[in-house]
Amino acid sequence: MSTSKFPDAAERTKTLEHQGNAKRKRILVVEDNQLNLMLLSQLLRVHGYQILQTPEGSGALDLARDEQPDLILMDIGLPDICGLDVTRLLKQDDHTKAIPIIAVTAFAMPGDEKKALESGCDGYITKPIIIERLLRTVELFLSSSPPEGSSLQ
Ligand code: MN
Repeated sequence: MSTSKFPDAAERTKTLEHQGNAKRKRILVVEDNQLNLMLLSQLLRVHGYQILQTPEGSGALDLARDEQPDLILMDIGLPDICGLDVTRLLKQDDHTKAIPIIAVTAFAMPGDEKKALESGCDGYITKPIIIERLLRTVELFLSSSPPEGSSLQ
């Protein structure tokens, strides 16, 4: 299996090898839809990540502070505290502000990405989730340097 005509497959093999050598990264998945939470967590586990999960904003605040995950996937529509407000609180807290946060949202209106970035989110993914794109974004944020073109302003 030295060559592959599918660049994505080759890329993914490299990613898995890399993760096998490195310490497993921990991702906090914040999502109030149980099915989405399960699918996202399962997908990321299969790709070698360790998963923390919560369906609520308050749970996200606690877990982020206590567990210091390497990355947070943040649903915006949450039952208790809006994901954008959770993000603001995490980015104001010295103990959690360095954790990259990727907003995951079904609101695909113009201006929503700007709103997410203004709240302190480091990245933005829209639902329905495209698996390859999600994995690539996660990998980019978990590599040492922030991804090029991430327009944090
Ligand atoms: Mn939601």
